[in-house]
Amino acid sequence: MATSYKELGLVNTRGMFKKAMAGKYAIPAYNFNNMEQLQAIITACIETNSPVILQVSKGARKYANQILLKHMAMGALEIIKDAGSKIPVVLHLDHGDSYELCVSCIESGFSSVMIDGSGLKFGDNVALTKKVVEYAHKYDVTVESELGVLAGIEDEVSHEKTHYTKPEEVEEFVAKTGVDSLAISIGTSHGAYKFKVEPGQSFPELRFDILHEVEKKLPGFPIVLHGSSSVPKEYVDIINRYGGKLGHTAGVPEDQLRKATHSAVCKINIDTDGRLVVTAKIREVFASSPKEFDPRKYLGPAREELVKMYKHKNEHVLGSAGKA
Ligand SMILES: [Zn+2]
Repeated sequence: MATSYKELGLVNTRGMFKKAMAGKYAIPAYNFNNMEQLQAIITACIETNSPVILQVSKGARKYANQILLKHMAMGALEIIKDAGSKIPVVLHLDHGDSYELCVSCIESGFSSVMIDGSGLKFGDNVALTKKVVEYAHKYDVTVESELGVLAGIEDEVSHEKTHYTKPEEVEEFVAKTGVDSLAISIGTSHGAYKFKVEPGQSFPELRFDILHEVEKKLPGFPIVLHGSSSVPKEYVDIINRYGGKLGHTAGVPEDQLRKATHSAVCKINIDTDGRLVVTAKIREVFASSPKEFDPRKYLGPAREELVKMYKHKNEHVLGSAGKA
C-alpha cells in the first residue's frame, strides 16, 4: 500500500524554496546512510532552528535497506515533535537514475525526488524528467533535475570532466518538463578531490557568470548546487595524521557558497564533509584509545563532531539557521 508523505508529516520543497529565495539563504540537503548521521543532522537542525532536506541516494537505499531508511526518517520526525520543534523536513531521493526508482520512492513516502538525466542527450533528459514530473505532481511531490555534468565521484555517480550548464538551454528545459528545481554545474563537484589544486595554490572561483545567466533566463526559479562540500583541511589533517592516505584534497570554499546563497540557489548538497568528519573522529579514537572496542565509544564522538559541523554550515555558510 502506498504511503503519502503528507501522512508522515513531511513537506515538499515548494514552500521552503520560496522562503529561501526571498530570504537569501539556502536549505541544507544532507545525506544519511546510518543512525548516527541522521541523529546528528536532526540535532543540529533542531538546535539551529533550520529547515532541512534529508537526502537518500540509491546507494544509501541499498546499504541501509529502503524500509529501514523510511522508518528512520519517520523516527526523526517524531523526535523533532517530541523536542517541541517545528522545523520542516523534506525526504528527498538524491540522484534518482530511473523513472521506476522515483516512483518507488514516492510510493514509500518521499516528498521530493531528483531524476538525474544529466548524462543523457537534451531531448532524452527532457522526456525522462517530464515523465517523472507528471507522476510526482499527481501526489504533490516536487522534482529536481539537472542540466550540465559535475565532475567527481559520489556513490554510483561518476564523471571525469565538468560540463558547465548551458544557460541557453534552461528555459526550454523547465518549460517542457514542468520541473520544480534545477541542479546546475558551475564548478562544484562530487567527492573529496574537487579540483586539481597543489598545496599553496588558490581555489578556482565558481562560475557565478553562468549562475547569473541562468537566473536571468529563469527569474525566481529555484537552483540547486550539488557537490558543495568544503573538504575542511582540519579533518583531512586528522585523517592523515592517524594513518589515512588522502592526497591533495580540495573543496568549495565556504565564502563562495555563502555568496551563492544570495542568488537563486535554494538548496546546497553537502555529503563529503560528513564522511570526512566521521572518518577523522573514528581514526582519532582508534589511535588514542587502542584498547577501545565498543562501537559507541567511537561512533559517539563522530556523531558529536558531525553536529558541530552541521550547525556551522547552517549558521555560517547556508544561512538557514533560525529560518524554520
Ligand atoms: Zn550530487
